Amino acid sequence: MAITLEGTNVITTTLRRVVNWARRSSLWPLPFATACCGIEFMATACARFDLARFGAEVARFSPRQADMLVVAGRVSVKMMPVLQRIYKQMTEPKWVISMGACASTGGVFDTYAVVQGVDQYIPVDVYVPGCPPRPEALMEGIMAIQRIVDEDGLPPEGGHRRPLQIQVDPTHEVQPQPVPLTVGAS
Ligand code: SF4
Repeated sequence: MAITLEGTNVITTTLRRVVNWARRSSLWPLPFATACCGIEFMATACARFDLARFGAEVARFSPRQADMLVVAGRVSVKMMPVLQRIYKQMTEPKWVISMGACASTGGVFDTYAVVQGVDQYIPVDVYVPGCPPRPEALMEGIMAIQRIVDEDGLPPEGGHRRPLQIQVDPTHEVQPQPVPLTVGAS
């Protein structure tokens, strides 16, 4: 495939590469934001971090118009069927990010009412660690999906595929917990 630029300049590429470029540059997230991680998602989309640089700022709240489900926050057992239905209503190819400790493991909410990891019920492609994850970490997760779209192209026949299960590593040095002060000590 040849694309003619201004004047006599021409670049050649494959149609598949152009399609993948378009797909990876237009991921539309559906934020399933149930708790504080949702606020971090909002920060990611705002001007300081500007998710639009990755073409992924068009948050949609209709599953039929989204292809990247971002589970941001803890999910209760009662809410899980809703999340499953939303996932099913999204059309393939679709991607799932589990954002934060609560979505991936239940976090500190080790109770009977909270799902201890959404991957028990829906396929998760990328796990973003943190409580909450920094916007940069969420962007790293989105870029992981973009790389897969770029490299692997369209999913296998029928649109069904195995979850990618990519683990995003923290991009910062983990600091030690602060040591408590002893009041009155000399
Ligand atoms: S991982 Fe932390 S910030 Fe995110 S929803 Fe759970 S408690 Fe809130």
